[in-house]
Amino acid sequence: MWRAVGADRRSTYATGMPGRIRDADIAEIRERATIDGVVGEYVSLRNAGGGSMKGLCPFHDERSPSFHVTPARGLWYCFGCGEGGDVISFIERIEHVSFAEAVERLADRVGVQLVYEDSGGGRSSRGPQREQRTRMVEANKAAAEYYADQLATPEAVAARQFLDERGFDRAAAEHFGVGFSPRTGEALRQHLLRRGFSDEDIIAGGLVVAGQRSPYDRFRGRLMWPIRDLMGAVVGFGARRLFDDDRIDAKYLNTPETPLYRKSTVLYGVDLAKKEIARQSRAVVVEGYTDVMACHLAGVTTAVATCGTAFGDDHAKVLRRLLMDQDEFRGEVVFTFDGDEAGKKAALRAFEGDQRFVAQTYVAIEPDGRDPCDLRVDDGDAAVRELVARRRPLFEFAITSSVAAYDLDVPEGRTQALDHAIPLVARIKDHALRDEYARRLAGWVGAPDELAVVQRVRGASGVRSRRAAAPPVEGQHALVPDHGDVDPQVLAAEREALKVALQRPALAGPFFDDLDPAAFASPAHRAIAEAIAASGGVATQSGGPGWVQTVLGSVPTEATAGVVRELAVAPIAADDDSLPRYVVSSLARLHGMWVSRRLVSVKAKLQRTDPESDAAAYNKLFGELMSLESMRRDLRERAISGL
Ligand SMILES: [Zn+2]
Repeated sequence: MWRAVGADRRSTYATGMPGRIRDADIAEIRERATIDGVVGEYVSLRNAGGGSMKGLCPFHDERSPSFHVTPARGLWYCFGCGEGGDVISFIERIEHVSFAEAVERLADRVGVQLVYEDSGGGRSSRGPQREQRTRMVEANKAAAEYYADQLATPEAVAARQFLDERGFDRAAAEHFGVGFSPRTGEALRQHLLRRGFSDEDIIAGGLVVAGQRSPYDRFRGRLMWPIRDLMGAVVGFGARRLFDDDRIDAKYLNTPETPLYRKSTVLYGVDLAKKEIARQSRAVVVEGYTDVMACHLAGVTTAVATCGTAFGDDHAKVLRRLLMDQDEFRGEVVFTFDGDEAGKKAALRAFEGDQRFVAQTYVAIEPDGRDPCDLRVDDGDAAVRELVARRRPLFEFAITSSVAAYDLDVPEGRTQALDHAIPLVARIKDHALRDEYARRLAGWVGAPDELAVVQRVRGASGVRSRRAAAPPVEGQHALVPDHGDVDPQVLAAEREALKVALQRPALAGPFFDDLDPAAFASPAHRAIAEAIAASGGVATQSGGPGWVQTVLGSVPTEATAGVVRELAVAPIAADDDSLPRYVVSSLARLHGMWVSRRLVSVKAKLQRTDPESDAAAYNKLFGELMSLESMRRDLRERAISGL
């Protein structure tokens, strides 16, 4: 099915190389480096049945998983882009390394001691014959150990003080491998040369600078954070200035671009966070090394940070691969920013380019601009967790901040705020989301005529995106469905459930019919669910063309009918293969959201009830609370497993 990658390509590296790796070693690596284990370091895999697993392909951009791994055969294959191979070719492709380098990385991982055969028949198991990239990884690892040891020396008192002032004790420093680079120009270089590394390798690895007269250490007198890749290999360092007489002004220095270190993809803390990111379906992006540390220590174990650059598309790809599975709307990325200004600038960028994941993007900012590290020092671990819990959808944050500067108590201020915000809202590409935020903008600004704002936004977006497009359909176009004040993620979940009910009613089956229409938070969606129930439910339907017409006959308003027509044709976010599970999991998720909302209200009632004077009512509410909690747990399981 796919071309065999591996054995027949060995000849390409063998020529011109100082030695070749024994076939027996390569066979042993294929044996010991399990394909699901290795791929699982980069991509979240889930059971796909039939002894195979699947996830989002790391080699092409996709929204539903077509990347399959078959552990029993040690192979991977993507049905989307047709790439495939074994564990070695996977590392070659994903790390952009040669066959020999991939073998070396895997050998380190599974503890196989490689034996190189040179042309003269001699043998050697380490040292200069290893590929340069592998030697750079080893040099970086040795440097990280060296720096960590230096943190205990008298010279590093300023470094220890820096950590102490930020609430990091020795155990925290060790957990993150924090270290100190001595102030002399060549302490690290001498150490690494003694360990058998060459100037060539440590210069290429970014640890040492060539210099005009002689090579010298890149980092001097700084607090050092080792930066690791997904597999946990040290690929570079972040270094903070500690001394006033530092010859380099920059507060933070990073490893320059090297074959190991690409700042557009590295994320500090990702090695520690990746499992939790996959498990919790959430990633928290903070601004600095100390923020990552503070978050993890405070229990926000999904925190990562970019290193010396803004968060970009390549960073997003790394996180999405860890986050996502077949439920495209499930993952959540939360950005924290130091203060409103930084947040606003970043939020405005969300309106540019690809907005596919923006509905899953949130912003968490402490009103007084404190970062997670300061927050933890001042107010403790709980304050950091609360900061993340108070996240707001990115669009909401961007739009409300854009109108915050205006005096909304006077008509002139409201007009100016609208003039300013309407072009912004008009740039939201998802039509349903755009209408929804237009409606909310009217509320935030206090504009009396909601519909007028929606129409202005639609007008502004039409001018921008398709000047010569067909004129809008009269009548229907001006109708705005009522979605209430519903979180966009909930709206998205409801839309998926209704798409399935309208397009594939037989699949939605009794599980959909069991769902109380009240589970739909959006009034428009609730009306559609009621219309479906009034039409006899989905379980009896085969999904013929008459079905949507029947539902249309029962919806209360033309605006709601517009939503039905749209959902009846909008693509469902799953392929036929995974659709049955997708249906169960979307409906369970929706039901779970409803149960969660009821839990909140039961809890509030319980707090208002006095257990002594009104014991009967209290016990009844308590019983209700317990059964809702257990229902929520079951639904969460179903939502995750799709079974
Ligand atoms: Zn692919």
